[in-house]
Amino acid sequence: MDKKLKLAVIGKPIGHSKSPEIHQDFANQFDAKIEFRKDKVTPDTLETWLDEFFKDGGKGVSITLPLKEAALNHADEISDRARLASACNVIYLKDEKLFADCTDGFGLIKDLEENLKVSLKDKKILILGAGGAARGIIPSIIEKNPEKLKIANRTESKALLLKEDLEGKIDLKGKSLTFQAGGLTDDFLLTDSYDLVINSTSISTQAGESLGLPKALFKGAKLAYDLFYAAEKTVFMQESLADGAEKVSDGWGMLVEQGAESFRLWTNLIPDTSRLLEKPID
Ligand code: NAP
Repeated sequence: MDKKLKLAVIGKPIGHSKSPEIHQDFANQFDAKIEFRKDKVTPDTLETWLDEFFKDGGKGVSITLPLKEAALNHADEISDRARLASACNVIYLKDEKLFADCTDGFGLIKDLEENLKVSLKDKKILILGAGGAARGIIPSIIEKNPEKLKIANRTESKALLLKEDLEGKIDLKGKSLTFQAGGLTDDFLLTDSYDLVINSTSISTQAGESLGLPKALFKGAKLAYDLFYAAEKTVFMQESLADGAEKVSDGWGMLVEQGAESFRLWTNLIPDTSRLLEKPID
């Protein structure tokens, strides 16, 4: 790759994003030259920004909050993964067309199965939250044939809608999955025990805040996984460990792995993620 590849990450807020450093690490592995912008973009300025970026020779963009749903409207082709998620976290130019894809589910599964050695088959899984991140990961989780999947959200109606939407899109026939949705209430949470509890709420973006989960929730849990990533353990991770989870993880590995998959879409190159997984960027 002789030409400098024009890449970017967009959203609001965007200052905290580690995407430029992650993709620079990937590019260095292949001596590829990249220019990686980090731009504040809102739904109002999205169309103009994308037009200008791709007119100006742009190749690929990582899409973050709050643009993941809106960005789908600007793509010529939408992958199955993005269609199932009703959201995309990457848009790129290929054969003069704009493609939208969602690599979040891929990133989570790679982190769980390969990095953390956690299999999802026949497991009981609880997902807290029903926002964009939950939409992105649930189809990939279902593909791994868990025994039970529960979505619990503060706004119960949103969890019910998400379940209904996914049941309309994913063929669940032939799967022995018990799929449930409900509110973030003790009654709903404590009717089962779980192998894996995934926090896909945005609570950890508000430092020090707790979901106030019942202590018994984590008894017997092999892993409590927070999609958020930070230098220190999040409150969710601290509380779940104290309440009996065997192991905890933040979402750094997912971020790196979804980034590697996006990099592959942009370049056809598969980067080695091991160095970044060992040593997160401060
Ligand atoms: P979102 O679409 O804004 O959804 C936020 C969710 O959090 C909603 O379900 C919301 O419930 C819930 N929530 C917010 N505050 C809460 C509170 N105080 N108590 C209980 N529930 C609360 O956000 P998102 O895009 O899904 O992102 C969620 C998290 O995932 C963020 O921390 C983000 O950084 C992380 N993430 C990580 C990766 C990665 O690669 N590691 C990728 C994507 C996202 P209501 O519906 O009731 O409002």
